[in-house]
Amino acid sequence: MSELAELYETIRTCTLCPLSRGRTLAVPGEGPEDAEIMFIGEAPGFHEDQQGRPFVGAAGQYLDELLASINLSRKEVYICNVIKCRPPNNRDPLPEELAACRPYIEKQIALIKPKIIVTLGRFSMELAFPGVTISRVHGIPKKVGDIVYYPMFHPAAGLHQPKFRSLIEEDFRKLPQILADLQSVKEAETKPKSPQQLSLF
Ligand code: URA
Repeated sequence: MSELAELYETIRTCTLCPLSRGRTLAVPGEGPEDAEIMFIGEAPGFHEDQQGRPFVGAAGQYLDELLASINLSRKEVYICNVIKCRPPNNRDPLPEELAACRPYIEKQIALIKPKIIVTLGRFSMELAFPGVTISRVHGIPKKVGDIVYYPMFHPAAGLHQPKFRSLIEEDFRKLPQILADLQSVKEAETKPKSPQQLSLF
């Protein structure tokens, strides 16, 4: 069993906070273990709690559409949440619930080692942008260590409010260029020096 699969087992049987008592299923996350892009949302809703999978309800369908708009499919990216069990009536997660779940998202990031993390909504944004407001930083990538964080509004906000929908779609359209820039840095780092350059030394 991979370390990530072991982590999923730990999450599925977790009782560290009271949300565990109200869940149908915990929702660890899903996607390739070597994904370059990781999307982190807030918490499971009704459908996610029923199926044990992230972003399978209305917000998830919209996320699928957004991915397709930049020629990505769900199978190519890693998707998870900062909170692994559904809060009652989809209320905001409490600080103590966020704290109890925090080691899980940290371990997921450490195991998957994505190049870019797209945070969806303010709760996952807090991982890299503590104390800032999402309206000020959305759509602006920031490098933290080896990872580029890219904060966006939560897709659920775009489902009901056209203003957010256009901001989300605008931010999504910038993703391919950010990914291409990351790739060119990688290529530059791995390119062997030309014989001419080598002869200088
Ligand atoms: N909203 C989230 O933040 N995560 C999900 O998995 C579903 C809806």
